[in-house]
Parts: sequence; C-alpha cells; structure tokens
Amino acid sequence: MAKVNKNFENLVPSYLFAEIAKRVNEFVKANPDKPVIRLGIGDVTRPLAPVVVDAMKKGCDELAVKETFKGYPDYEGYEFARQAIADYYKTFGVSVDKDEILINDGAKSDAGNITDIFSQDNVVLVTDPVYPVYVDTNIMGGRKIIYADANEENGFNASPDPSVHADLIYLCSPNNPTGAAMNEEQLKAWVDYALANDAIIFYDAAYESFITEDGIPRSIYAIEGSRKCAIEMCSLSKTAGFTGTRCGYTVIPKELEMDGTNIYKLWYRRQSTKFNGVSYPVQCGLAAVFSEEGLKQIQENLKYYQENARIIAKTMDECGVKYTGGINSPYIWFKCPGGKSSWEFFDYMLNTINVVGTPGEGFGENGKGWFRLTAFGDRENTIEAMRRFKEMLSK
Ligand code: PLP
Repeated sequence: MAKVNKNFENLVPSYLFAEIAKRVNEFVKANPDKPVIRLGIGDVTRPLAPVVVDAMKKGCDELAVKETFKGYPDYEGYEFARQAIADYYKTFGVSVDKDEILINDGAKSDAGNITDIFSQDNVVLVTDPVYPVYVDTNIMGGRKIIYADANEENGFNASPDPSVHADLIYLCSPNNPTGAAMNEEQLKAWVDYALANDAIIFYDAAYESFITEDGIPRSIYAIEGSRKCAIEMCSLSKTAGFTGTRCGYTVIPKELEMDGTNIYKLWYRRQSTKFNGVSYPVQCGLAAVFSEEGLKQIQENLKYYQENARIIAKTMDECGVKYTGGINSPYIWFKCPGGKSSWEFFDYMLNTINVVGTPGEGFGENGKGWFRLTAFGDRENTIEAMRRFKEMLSK
C-alpha cells in the first residue's frame, strides 16, 4: 500500500483566508449596495515597470531566433542576472559574490524547499506571529518547532533566549505580518546566537526594499559573522511587482559549512535534481529591475505603497491605536481597539465600515487581539477606508 506522509495530518487546516472569503461573500450577498474595500490581501496591484516589460519582450524576441534561442537555463541562474543582483547589494553597501546567488521562481519555493537539505531531527525556531510557510513546511517534514515570542512588550521583534537551543532559525525582517523591522543590534543578537548554537538562520528579506530608516539592515550580510551562519532569501514579488511573473533569489555564502558539509554545494545538488531554473525572459526582467533605470522606475510603485502605509499609520496615530510597521514595511499591524478579539474586530469593521483586513490570530498565538492591514491597495480606497476607520472609532 502506498503510505502517505502522515505529518500532513498535523497541519492546522488553512481556514484563515477561506474563512475571510466566506464572511466577505456573505456580507456582499446580503448588502449588494455597500461596496467593500479590501485591505487584507498581500498581493500587489501596481503594474510592472516599463523597462522590465521591455526587457522581457526583448528576451522573448531572442527566443524566436535560431541564433539567440536558449533551452534549459543554468540551475543557479544566468550570470548576467546574478551579476545584476550582486551589483544591487553593492548599492546598500553589502558585498555578495554573483557565484553565491541562486535565482529561483520566488522566495516561497526556497523557504519551503531549503529544509530538504537538513535532517529531520533539527530543532526549528520561528518567531510568533509568523509567515505560515515556515511552520507548515517543517510540520510536513516532521520537525520539532519552537517559538520565540514577538509581542507588544518587545515591539514585535523577538530576541533569542540563550537558555534554549535551536538548529534552524527563520527570521523575517521587515516582518510579515507585523511590519516590525530589526535594527543592527537586534539582528546581531540572532547572529551571535546562531554562531553559539552552530545553527543556521534562514533570513527572509522579501520586504527589504520597503526599508526607509537608517540603521535597519537591508541584508543579514550587513552583520558581522553572518556569512558563517546565514542563508538569505529574497523576492521580486513586492520589490518589483513580480507576484505573477515569479522570480526571487537565495544567497548562500561559499564559506558556509555545517557538520563538515558545504551548504552551497548541498543546495546546488538539491536544486539541480529537483529544479530546472527560471525562464530566460523572466531573468531578463530581473536584470532590468536592478539596472540603473529599473531601480528608478520601481521606486514609483514602492513610493505609492509607502504613501498608502503612511496614510494608514497616520490614521492609527490620530486614533490613538497601537501599531507596528508602516514605516519600513507595507504592513500595519495594530491592536484591536476596545479589547476586541481579532475575529470580533474583523466582523465589526466589515459590518460597520465595509473594510476587510486580516485577523492577527491567523499568524499565531501572539496575533490574538491584533490585526493586519496592507498598503497594497488603491490610493483612493486606502484614503476612504481610513476616513471610515476614523469615523468608526470616534463613535
Ligand atoms: N516571504 C514572505 C515573508 C512573504 O510575505 C512572501 C509573500 O507574501 C513570500 C516570502 C513569498 O514570496 P514569493 O512571491 O517570492 O514566493
């Protein structure tokens, strides 16, 4: 008999977004005259930058001609694309070699797949609240998971507990869902902890391009010692609107070794077995994102979202609502007013002002009583939602 992976039975049913959709659909059916504003989604809404589209079209044209046609790409990505990423790191003062970069079809794939190269008996540490991918992939792999609390007291930036041992550590900064971003000192504490525990950090930098403040690292490799303990994952999804186009990259320093094994080589072995690379036109698009003109053009969309985030954060300030995020992040994570639970607040907001967000408890225990709004909506909708929010709280 074919036996299934019973670890899947340990997954919590993924009811969060299904439950949101169900409640919203019921509301819309009962109130067709009340348009709903959706600030719950984590997907982008702005189009790709023109220079990126042109590069992808040119890439397609090359595939249409025998002399420039390309078949399978390199597993780790074309050299020109990896060089573009290495040059991008230089713009914020971090040195990464093009041969330490592997291009993929998005950060979610690698965040989930990286555990293939680590044994089942590793102890995995995640922060709570958490991006569910880190938890679910390790439940599927049957690993023990421990949690580091991110909460109101520590500004939703968890710190390591030296009395607790972990082998694999997931960090995400700026964080989804809390929008909190770690400063150098906070990040250094995790690097020191990882080095002391012979642990590896998986650093998810998917939202690095939203950082506006000094002193918030754009990469874990800005921290001393990190090259001996960290793998960095990044994505073009939010940076350049690639949620549908699909492209990201992972950085593994060549000197990163664990248990006598070179981690880059191990991951390369895994990728060359199970992954056949990213298409040429998409990698042309990636290189265009990180070109001089591309970096200018993607700023337009980033500024648009940042302004939405500022509008939401300002409303929270004006209403005296506690929150994190919004400054270095497209997420605003706030404490539900009136001591409501996150689902109570979800229903209250939907019914009173017809605005949809994401209840915090969907991201873990510490999300109870908290709520996430995103800055990825339209400007007019964001302004209108916040006008209604203010009105709702003034009553
Ligand atoms: N990491 C975090 C923290 C995310 O929030 C997301 C997407 O929402 C991803 C990774 C996935 O990114 P990608 O679209 O590159 O797979």
